[in-house]
Amino acid sequence: MSLALSIAIGTTVVLGGSSALSAAAATPTTVLGYDIDSASSLTVVVNKTRPLTPVTYGPAEFGAVNLAKPAADAFARMRHGMSKAGDGDLYISSGYRGYYSQRAIYRRDVAKLGLLRGQRLAAKPGYSEHQTGLAADLAAYGQGCVVKVCFSTTKASKWLVANAWRYGFILRYPQGQTKVTGYQFEPWHYRFVGKTLSIQMHKAKATVLETFLGLPPAPDYVP
Ligand SMILES: [Zn+2]
Repeated sequence: MSLALSIAIGTTVVLGGSSALSAAAATPTTVLGYDIDSASSLTVVVNKTRPLTPVTYGPAEFGAVNLAKPAADAFARMRHGMSKAGDGDLYISSGYRGYYSQRAIYRRDVAKLGLLRGQRLAAKPGYSEHQTGLAADLAAYGQGCVVKVCFSTTKASKWLVANAWRYGFILRYPQGQTKVTGYQFEPWHYRFVGKTLSIQMHKAKATVLETFLGLPPAPDYVP
């Protein structure tokens, strides 16, 4: 396949928004200059219609916390920023999760709860943003509501909503966007996308990654 042809195909997929599956083609698709396909890209978009390629991908280099190096470094700066503001001592309740441990969680939950409820609780292996090493479930010491919706009422969460973008992080599953993101409101789940994109989204008052990039909604897995 010629280079020109593969670019044309990639572009068609995004503009047409017809098939989310083919968006993860061999040639990385760029949207607004962001590589949304390559697993190691800081701006890779992973959701229920866009698995990682390869499906067993894991980051090559980790930082001081359980995240890929750039995300771990940014997390340290963000933690410092929150602490300086007096709004909490941030920590990661869950960071990188590999393909095989996600597969174990997924199989356990589906066996216990059935496919529908199991899938609501655990992402399919290869489809979890945590597998990129760029997603973190955040919590603050002493503020409670760890991985609970009430985290949104904590001082730490309010600081994050106002400031995470300065450090390259976005709230990935905002309230009322389940039909687009495929996930319930998760005020604890932040995704490192790099400062270029997070600042651009902030300036545009954009709240949902898929919407901002013009990608089709990803409410559920494609059977
Ligand atoms: Zn999470």
